[in-house]
Amino acid sequence: MARKFFVGGNWKCNGTAEEVKKIVNTLNEAQVPSQDVVEVVVSPPYVFLPLVKSTLRSDFYVAAQNCWVKKGGAYTGEVSAEMLVNLDIPWVILGHSERRAILNESNEFVGDKVAYALAQGLKVIACVGETLEEREAGSTMDVVAAQTKAIADRVSNWSNVVIAYEPVWAIGTGKVASPAQAQEVHDELRKWLAKNVSADVAATTRIIYGGSVNGGNCKELGGQADVDGFLVGGASLKPEFIDIIKAAE
Ligand code: PGA
Repeated sequence: MARKFFVGGNWKCNGTAEEVKKIVNTLNEAQVPSQDVVEVVVSPPYVFLPLVKSTLRSDFYVAAQNCWVKKGGAYTGEVSAEMLVNLDIPWVILGHSERRAILNESNEFVGDKVAYALAQGLKVIACVGETLEEREAGSTMDVVAAQTKAIADRVSNWSNVVIAYEPVWAIGTGKVASPAQAQEVHDELRKWLAKNVSADVAATTRIIYGGSVNGGNCKELGGQADVDGFLVGGASLKPEFIDIIKAAE
């Protein structure tokens, strides 16, 4: 089964209602390849989810940037997976490196979140990736494997999971991984899945790349055999995001 190209836009903690409406208008007017060719998902901050959901074209999907690790209740400030399901939000990003680093989310905590969100019926973009220090120490694959293992230990059905490989040193820095660097980790990750999960999961799970993807570098990155799309931060707030979607062609 061919893996459908996937392009996610992570808006992070950016935007006013006016700016969000402008981005949605730009996306709604864009000529992009059909849904048979590319799956497009944009992820606004929680407060803008209903606005985006109700105004965005129906062939693009919406993702939350996080959700709580278990059933909602007395967890001030959190948003539960059930609430996202209730609002018909199909996707959630979990384990983004900004949350791992700034909010101390451990591999186990991220694994628990992924399992809980999937059990509620959400689809998950699960982020993994090494820091510059870890890369320079030669431990990239150990780090990425440990992050993936914490998910694999808790998840049996991978059909609603997309893995986003996002080297931390490439996020928001303008220092994109070279196509060869991205391909190397994606290939290793796929081999890890084949060995530790199953050949079928390895063959069908989309592994997307994130970290300073832009209109100029997306074509070559997307042309790598094991790069099945992108998670785009900064450039997803700009009209350039449309060029990145077109890299699916
Ligand atoms: P960037 O962010 O494209 O701005 O580097 C990617 C991400 O954090 O998902």
